[in-house]
Amino acid sequence: MRVVSIGECMVELAPAGDGLFAMGYAGDTFNTAWYLRHLLPEAEVDYLTAVGSDPTSDAMVDFMTSAGIGTAHVQRVAGRTVGLYMIRLEKGERSFAYWRSASAARCLADDAERLGLALAKADLAYLSGITLAILSEAARTRLAAELRTARKRGVRVAFDPNLRPALWPEAAAMRAAVTEFASVADVVLPSFDDEARYFGDPDPAETARRYGRAGAPLVVVKDGGNPVVTLSGGPLVWHRLVQQVADPVDTTAAGDSFNAGFLAAHLTGMALEGAVANGAALAARVIRAPGALVLSAVTKG
Ligand code: ADP
Repeated sequence: MRVVSIGECMVELAPAGDGLFAMGYAGDTFNTAWYLRHLLPEAEVDYLTAVGSDPTSDAMVDFMTSAGIGTAHVQRVAGRTVGLYMIRLEKGERSFAYWRSASAARCLADDAERLGLALAKADLAYLSGITLAILSEAARTRLAAELRTARKRGVRVAFDPNLRPALWPEAAAMRAAVTEFASVADVVLPSFDDEARYFGDPDPAETARRYGRAGAPLVVVKDGGNPVVTLSGGPLVWHRLVQQVADPVDTTAAGDSFNAGFLAAHLTGMALEGAVANGAALAARVIRAPGALVLSAVTKG
């Protein structure tokens, strides 16, 4: 089994008290790859991105390697470096500042041949709306074409729209790109709150139907602590969450970890209901601890 997750990993600076910051690494598609790595110990999990050729980029690649994530498809771009974000904590409220507009990851889909090679023999390719947001229009078109070709060869494509209008010149371009990539995907994994805000969906059922109309054979709509709604050809199904977390410690990576739990089960042939339960169980553990990559959520004991 081989999984290729496509996107941007960033350096994270998180407040550690006394004006100090702790350095880590995170990014939506990277988080999902990290969780998949733990959930599928027999599989190869590769991250497809681009980094610079400086020591900061080297340290990120070393982190990926030490986490067991394959870096054969991490491209090096001379003269650039990786993106950075800083978390601020004021009166319990988190806010984020980003330095990513010139990050190397923006070059990840510049070479069609590289993309084709990376996707060959994959069982699953995973990407998000943030992956799309950081690419030029030409690079997005190239990526869509390579994913379509890979899909014809049996590669399954999973896509989380992860709507972030701040990364796009205008919201209409974001909506168009996300809708197009839903037509390239086998599984679309949106979060209802974003979809309601930027597509105007009145309820999760409409989110599922809209991506179904766009061409996605399977849609799995997350909605915080509310039921997950799925659509796969037949009628809509509501999956009640077995575990409710009344006071989440940190909801960062709730969606990313849900996707990993869902996809790991789905890939191994589990029925929809079980795969949703697997995603929800992992996300429920992740939001009980701080940070995006929660080791205690994937290790026993
Ligand atoms: P995102 O991080 O993309 O905004 P959501 O907030 O929709 O994602 O949550 C993703 C998943 O995390 C949900 O489908 C659910 O399984 C789990 N989750 C989120 N909030 C809660 C909660 N309060 N209790 C239990 N599970 C939750």
